[in-house]
Amino acid sequence: MNNVTVIPIPAFQDNYIWLMRNQRYAAVVDPGDAAPVLAYLRREKLELTAILNTHHHADHVGGNAGLLREFRVPVYGPRNESIPDLSYRLSEGDHVSVPSLGLEFDVLDIPGHTSGHIAYYGANLLFCGDTLFACGCGKLFEGTAQQMYASLQKLSSLPDATLVYCGHEYTLANIRFAKAADPANAALLKLETNVRKLRELDMPTLPSYIGLEKTTNPFLRCNNPEIVRAATRAAGKTLTDPVAVFAAIREWKNNFKI
Ligand code: ZN
Ligand code: FE
Repeated sequence: MNNVTVIPIPAFQDNYIWLMRNQRYAAVVDPGDAAPVLAYLRREKLELTAILNTHHHADHVGGNAGLLREFRVPVYGPRNESIPDLSYRLSEGDHVSVPSLGLEFDVLDIPGHTSGHIAYYGANLLFCGDTLFACGCGKLFEGTAQQMYASLQKLSSLPDATLVYCGHEYTLANIRFAKAADPANAALLKLETNVRKLRELDMPTLPSYIGLEKTTNPFLRCNNPEIVRAATRAAGKTLTDPVAVFAAIREWKNNFKI
């Protein structure tokens, strides 16, 4: 990946601002806060060359203005959401080029958490904001279960090795719920052991990768008989299609007390 590394910059309670960098240049995804990004850029003597936003929530775009005061860079974001300072309004089929890092991304429409939410996919990296989380998925603030299910299916069809950079450190809490929905899943129990170790060391549990999500994330496993059974129990009625299963486990998780 031509010397590009991806660095998590923690922000607020549990956000990650993802910063891609080489020796001289950087680009950030979802800078909810400018201050920690500016501190990192200064310390590492890097020049910011692009800002990528996945959706309009303040914890993902709140730092745009502060970064633009220091660096005049293009801001990429979803066509159908209102975000201040956007230079390029994107939707599925569009491409983003970050020449300073030698990177190209395809834009994917992944509505559900918000109605215009997009993802950036390229160079084996996926920046998916608050749509797909490690072992979980975003809440349906603006979209329908049908939309979110289709968005998650789209992401799960990417190659298994694709690295998944999510917007929040929610993995451990997500696993607690996933175990209730999928108690006999050995891959999930193994993941829990690994994630616990990382969190005890205060280390990020991200990125994940698509192959791991397909074996551990209940929201990508709506056809699995275990999940269907658990969802049916939670909903108290027979669920016949995967969207109904998805809607039932999303609703169940909304009310799940850890
Ligand atoms: Zn959000
Ligand atoms: Fe968020």
